[in-house]
Amino acid sequence: MSSQIYVPFVDLKAQHTTLMEEIKEAVFKVIENCNFILGKEVERFEEEFAKFLNVKYAVGVSSGLDALILALKGLDIGYGDEVLLPVNTFIATALAVNATGATPIFVDCEEESFNIDFRKIESAISPKTKAIIPVHLYGQSCNMDKIFEISKKYSLYVIEDAAQAHGTLYKGIPCGSMGIIGTFSFYPSKNLGACGDGGMVVSNNKEIAEKIKCLRNYGQEVKYKHTYKGGNNRLDTIQAAVLGVKLKYLNEWNLLRIHHANEYDNLLKDVPNIKTPARIYFSTHIYHLYVIRCKFRNELMKFLKENGVETGIHYPIPIHIQEAYKDLGYKKGDFPVAEKLSEEILSLPMFPELKKEQIEYVVEMIIKFYRNF
Ligand SMILES: *Cc1c(COP(=O)(O)O)cnc(C)c1O
Repeated sequence: MSSQIYVPFVDLKAQHTTLMEEIKEAVFKVIENCNFILGKEVERFEEEFAKFLNVKYAVGVSSGLDALILALKGLDIGYGDEVLLPVNTFIATALAVNATGATPIFVDCEEESFNIDFRKIESAISPKTKAIIPVHLYGQSCNMDKIFEISKKYSLYVIEDAAQAHGTLYKGIPCGSMGIIGTFSFYPSKNLGACGDGGMVVSNNKEIAEKIKCLRNYGQEVKYKHTYKGGNNRLDTIQAAVLGVKLKYLNEWNLLRIHHANEYDNLLKDVPNIKTPARIYFSTHIYHLYVIRCKFRNELMKFLKENGVETGIHYPIPIHIQEAYKDLGYKKGDFPVAEKLSEEILSLPMFPELKKEQIEYVVEMIIKFYRNF
């Protein structure tokens, strides 16, 4: 029996302590040059990120939410249009649709993968539907072949929300690079995170990429010549410098996460009342989150907290029953799978620097909880 240790949910300090000197140097360089807005670090990071994903164009923006809004605006989606998305995503995916004036239409998820259930997409399509936003939730890819089958049949755009999938591969192809547009977030705790906010829009379509580049900077192609009614949604130069440093480590960090997930899987495989994340043949998993399904979830979460283990729920309330969305008229029971999962899911501590002893301790506490419950 081990004595209590503290296991944080994520540990941003560990990563930044290791990279402190490199990050300081990159940030100081920006300050020395005073090239604060769309400096050369932004362009360099865009190029490197495009190379990482094997796409032609990448446009640095201010957040993952703004990346989605700009993607939709870049495709002229707005008032009167409908956009399909999974009901069990971070609320940003839906809010982006509303921000353009369009209406989000929710689709239930698959029980195994937690991702959008392609079997339920067609019945949600109407003459107003313009796009589908598959979200590669927790770091695992949606079934893109099935989604493209439907999108082609109904002439819909596919925008991939890859905010949790920096480096996930679908049948060997990077997530974010398959749809007409892919979007990323660099929120600090994402697999690739800035020291603040940041995001990216990627595409292989030159016209769309150029339009979004324009939209993020007041709709101007050259200074004071405004082609569109754009906004200020630029990736900050200091954040681009930080991200340029971190991108070099992303593959290594993702591999460490996979290693930790394997460790959890092994130790949890015979524990009753627990279901470890499914492995899906067509996708790698970069474990942005390691999400188990469990009995007595709230009691387990409380027990773990009392014993020094921080966990999370992603997400506790499906979007259709959020107060902010009561205007859409959905009700409890509309999306039974997402509703059921929201009561069973628990995200265990997961970050590259997680130690073997910490994983063993988390599992030991889970076993202890069920033995005594
Ligand atoms: C984090 C996240 C976003 C939003 O990113 P921000 O940078 O926080 O705006 C959008 N979609 C998903 C799935 C996310 O996880």
